[in-house]
This record gives sequence, structure tokens and C-alpha cells, in this order.
Amino acid sequence: MIVMKFGGTSLAGAERLVNVGEIIRGQLARKPILVLSAMGDTTDQLLEAADAALKKGFVSIEKIEDLHLTAMADLKLGPALQKEIKTLFWELGSLLTGISLTRELTGKTRDCLVSFGERMSVRIAAAYLRTINFKAQAFDAWDLGFLSDSSFGQAELRGESWVRIASSTRTLIAEGILPVITGFIAKDENGNITTLGRGGSDLSATVIAAACKAEEVQVWKDVDGILTADPRLVKDARPVDKVTYDEAAELAYFGAQVLHPRAMQPCIKIGTPVLVKNSYNPAAPGTRIEAGPDKNAPLIRAITSKKNVTLVDISSTRMLGQPGFLARLFSEFAKNSISIDMVATSEVSVSLTLDAEKDLAAVIRELSEYAGVEVKTGKAIVTIIGDVQRSSEILKDAFGLCTKMGIRVQMVSHGASKVNISFIINDGEADSLVTELHRFFFMEMEMEGKKKPAKRAVKK
Ligand code: ADP
Ligand code: ASP
Ligand code: MG
Repeated sequence: MIVMKFGGTSLAGAERLVNVGEIIRGQLARKPILVLSAMGDTTDQLLEAADAALKKGFVSIEKIEDLHLTAMADLKLGPALQKEIKTLFWELGSLLTGISLTRELTGKTRDCLVSFGERMSVRIAAAYLRTINFKAQAFDAWDLGFLSDSSFGQAELRGESWVRIASSTRTLIAEGILPVITGFIAKDENGNITTLGRGGSDLSATVIAAACKAEEVQVWKDVDGILTADPRLVKDARPVDKVTYDEAAELAYFGAQVLHPRAMQPCIKIGTPVLVKNSYNPAAPGTRIEAGPDKNAPLIRAITSKKNVTLVDISSTRMLGQPGFLARLFSEFAKNSISIDMVATSEVSVSLTLDAEKDLAAVIRELSEYAGVEVKTGKAIVTIIGDVQRSSEILKDAFGLCTKMGIRVQMVSHGASKVNISFIINDGEADSLVTELHRFFFMEMEMEGKKKPAKRAVKK
């Protein structure tokens, strides 16, 4: 059994769906379970429609209708499906009208609204796959056991989901069915639709794979795997053949938008390998993600950046060094549901970084009672994923480049997972630094006949 997940770009229209059908055909004997995202940019467009309904009261879903209806017409899919999709569009329209009339958009409503993307996509794909004689059947994830908490927009699956998902999907496979399951969505105990965070279909796929102990998860995207940098920024970025779960998780967490940050967790538990493949270029080997270490690993795997980060400096001559001080400090953030990315401490101060969207007013008020607090916005985290055993070399070269470029590094951290080195700079400097770091570590060092040994020494 394998799990194959196709992202939005792999599903953006009739031609892409035909291509997906061919990719699956080659692997039918491996008993695939499909997990699909919404078609094309539907999720973004649904979110835009929701905002428009809220702010202007005027909504157009023409683009979304056009994409789905044209694909159905081009693939000559029958009246039963057309009726089903029209009903979903009618519900979607009613929901948007409700938002525009009440001028209210809760997290619960937003999750319900974006769920239409995945719900339509699986129905259309399954109907098409049946026309090419696959025994495909569409499913909403909650009907196969995806039960979550009620954290709308960022829901966590409940423990009991695992057993339910394993049993439902195994039964389907035993019946010879090709399940086509919505990624990204679940339901809470009260029956409300929830979402697992943007890019959450990756997570749905790895959860299913781990739950039913699949031999592999394939995530099909529009790039030849995980690349050494964001290809939209660095045109010479190239695919990485292998990364460890930890490296993939750090990459995703620190800004590489290629995978959902939590998608590795289920696979780490079971050891299921994840393959990142390109549906536009299936012949490319892609990236294999599995447990490390890799004896041929290079000094550096990839470079990534995360912008729009806030840096908070907390100083207290009185309290630092006191037992329980850090616990108290972090609990202020926890109470306000703010998660912290990076931390550095000295004798008298603690610096930490957070996502800029968070409202810090309450935390600052609390902290200011016993510490000095300075908040600096407009920062970026640049992360180098590589061999932290050789961090001195990496840091020397990276800092040398920063000096040359006149960039001041404002905080540094070596991830405890021992795969990343991250540093904080100003937001506006991130793109050029990533480009230069990439040029230096991936182009220049190689051209210079590898003035440094490129292979990582593996500990026995
Ligand atoms: P999908 O939704 O189809 O699963 P995503 O759009 O979520 O795929 O992720 C793929 C995109 O991630 C690529 O098109 C690329 O632009 C972007 N990306 C950013 N950083 C990287 C990286 N280091 N390697 C590969 N892709 C990256
Ligand atoms: N459709 C959702 C999104 O765009 C989930 C996903 O594609 O993984 O975020
Ligand atoms: Mg994605």
C-alpha cells in the first residue's frame, strides 16, 4: 500500500488530471490511496472571496467556477457529478451571501468555506478516474476517521483518528477500491469542519500513510523535489536527492513552503519514507525523505528564509539566573497561544523570535512588570540546513559574506536538532543574502574544485 498526494498545481484542469491518471496507472499494483488538495489556486481564491464578502459585500467566484466546470466539461464527466458539484457551488454561494449579509467571518466559517475546494476536487478526480476504468471513490476525510480538535485554521488531529483511519482505508483497499480522499480538512467532535493549516494536505497524506503503515508516501508537486533554495528566488536552485526527516521538518518550519511543517511527524514515528516528486516531470528522481544519517551527505543541504518575523529582547538583571525565571517568561507566551521560533539567552537577557501577526500587547504588559522588553519588527530568519558538526566552517563563511554585504547579524542559533544554523537579519536583506549564500555554498565552492571536503563524515 502506498499513499499518493497531489497538490493544487498537479490538479489545475483537465490536462493535469489526465496526467495524474497516468502517474497512478503506473503504480496501481502498489495499491495506492490518493490524497488531493483543492484544484489550482482554489484555496487562495476562496479566502479572497471570504474577505471580499466580509469587507465589500460583493463576491465573485467566477474563476473558481470556471476552473471546475471547464475541467468537468473537458473530461466529459456525467450528469450525476455535475449535479453534485452544482449543489456544492450552491452551498458555497449561500455561505458567502451569509458572510456578506452578517459582515461576520469566524474561524469556523472560514474553515467550512475553504473545505469546498478539496470536496469538489476529490469528486471530480474520482469521477474522471472511473472513466479510465479505475475503481475510484471520493471521500471526505471525516468519513474515514479524521477527527480533530476545534482549533479552526490550525486544527490538531485527535488520537483516536489513527485507529479509525487505519481501519477504514484498509477495508477500502481490501475491497479493491482506489480511495480519493480530501486532504487538509477534518471535523471536530461537534461536527464542525476544521482545517489542518495551509498546505495541510501533506499532513493528511503522511497521517494516512503512518496510520496504515504504508510502504511509502509520494507527494506530487510542481518542482523536482526539495530544492537547495526557493526556486522563485534562486534560479540555480537544484533538487536534493535525500534529506532526513529532521532536515525536512526544519526546512519547512523555517520558511521553505514546499512541505507542511508538521507533515514529517507521523512518518518519523513509523519510519515511512516520503518521496517528493514532480507531476510535470515524473521521470525526475525527486527527493527521498527518511531517517538519517546519509553517508554521502554534503556540507550543506539547503538554504531557506522566513520573513516578517518579530524579535523580542527581554532583559532583567534582577531575575535572570533565578530558578523558574525562563519557565515564567515562556508561560506568558504560552498563555497567549504564541509560539516561539528561536531563542538565545545571555546572563541578563533573552532574545526570541515570533511570527509578526501575533498580538503581543498582553504579553508585553505582563513581562514589563519584571523585565525590560524591546520589540523589533521587520526581521527575517535565514536558515542553513547542513552538517552542524561543521558549524564553525559554515558560520565563518556565512558571516564573512554578511560582512562583505554590510549585513549585521542580530541573533544566531544552532537548532537543537543539530541540522540547522539560523540567524536573524533585517527583512529587506533576506533575499539577497539567501541568493549570495547559495551562490557561495553551491556554485563557488564546487567550482573552486571543492576547496573544502564536500562529504560529511559519518559517525559510526
Ligand atoms: P503543492 O501545493 O502542489 O503540494 P506547494 O505549492 O505547497 O505544492 O509547494 C511547492 C512550491 O514550493 C514550489 O512550487 C516552490 O515554488 C516552493 N518552494 C519554496 N521553497 C522550496 C524549496 N526549497 N524546494 C522546493 N520548492 C520550494
Ligand atoms: N488546499 C490547501 C492549501 O492550499 C491545502 C493544501 O493544498 O495542502 O493550503
Ligand atoms: Mg502545498
